[in-house]
Amino acid sequence: MSFSPSLGFAKLFLPSPSLLNFMALDSTAFSPTSLDEAYELLTRFVSQAKIIAGGTDLMVLMNARQLNAERFIDIWALNELRGISDEGETIRIGALTTYTQLIKSPLIQLHAPALAEASRTIGAIQIQNRGTIGGNIVNASPAGDSLPVLAAFDAEVEVGSVRGVRRIGFNEFYTGYRKTVMAADEIVLAVRAPKLKPGERSFFYKVGTRRAQAISKIVMAVKAKTTDGMINSINISLGSVAPTVIRAPQTESLLANATLNDEVIWQAATHLSKEVSPITDMRSTEHYRRKVARNALAKILSQMV
Ligand SMILES: Cc1cc2nc3c(=O)[nH]c(=O)nc-3n(C[C@H](O)[C@H](O)[C@H](O)COP(=O)(O)OP(=O)(O)OC[C@H]3O[C@@H](n4cnc5c(N)ncnc54)[C@H](O)[C@@H]3O)c2cc1C
Repeated sequence: MSFSPSLGFAKLFLPSPSLLNFMALDSTAFSPTSLDEAYELLTRFVSQAKIIAGGTDLMVLMNARQLNAERFIDIWALNELRGISDEGETIRIGALTTYTQLIKSPLIQLHAPALAEASRTIGAIQIQNRGTIGGNIVNASPAGDSLPVLAAFDAEVEVGSVRGVRRIGFNEFYTGYRKTVMAADEIVLAVRAPKLKPGERSFFYKVGTRRAQAISKIVMAVKAKTTDGMINSINISLGSVAPTVIRAPQTESLLANATLNDEVIWQAATHLSKEVSPITDMRSTEHYRRKVARNALAKILSQMV
């Protein structure tokens, strides 16, 4: 492993013994102590550099020798990327916020409870203590469990670079399988989720092989407002049924202003099973995923009657 002494502004990162085992011998790691330093490093190394946050996704890739980055930029020390704050109509969640912090946050429990619920299903305690919401967003797995919640909430991703800060609608963030609209030198700073409005509720449903430590076979989040069983508004999103997290606009339209009863619920749920486009892979089959998407929506809608 070689270190670059020329970067006086950035502290060299001292990798843990386990990270040392997995880093390529000629790779270099930096640990910036301010966002500006991180931006400078990313500008300097652009496509050769890999940001590392909690490392829970990257370490798996390193272990499997599937990651060939030449430089690592460890952002764990950037405290400006931490914290959950109340911004009036929205909750701002710093990119380095861990699942444990989301689970414990009174703001999240009150204003975006489905996000706390999703966080409780992610990995086990070790992963919840170390994995970050920013990492889940940028990793861009179609099975990422926080993503359907952020899609259903119409969240916004805040990204920064030397060029400044921009906000991107969560539903415009992914362009294809593991592809995002981010430029190579951008960092996710935070995600903003609108608070639930009076009368709105959020729901989260995940199916994996087992109840803990399981990657989703299907994951769903719904945000809806109902009055006496009539739907005033509904956002439905799913993971593991398409190359990216998706919304279900046809089923949402079908349900707009509908009064919920067994027939309406079954019609909408059946429609959803046709609207999604899952694949068969090592975790599940297309047929099973369509069926579970239908049943999950029926279950959630039944709770609104
Ligand atoms: C045993 C195990 C169980 C797991 N279970 C689940 C599960 O149930 N559900 C689930 O959804 N996930 C699960 N994961 C995946 C993982 O924990 C999450 O995706 C986690 O949120 C990633 O965050 P991180 O900080 O560790 O990301 P890292 O591994 O550090 O980075 C992941 C990717 O994001 C990029 N990145 C990270 N932060 C930023 C940033 N702020 N700006 C720009 N780029 C950034 C990195 O460059 C990298 O490409 C599991 C992982 C393991 C090892």
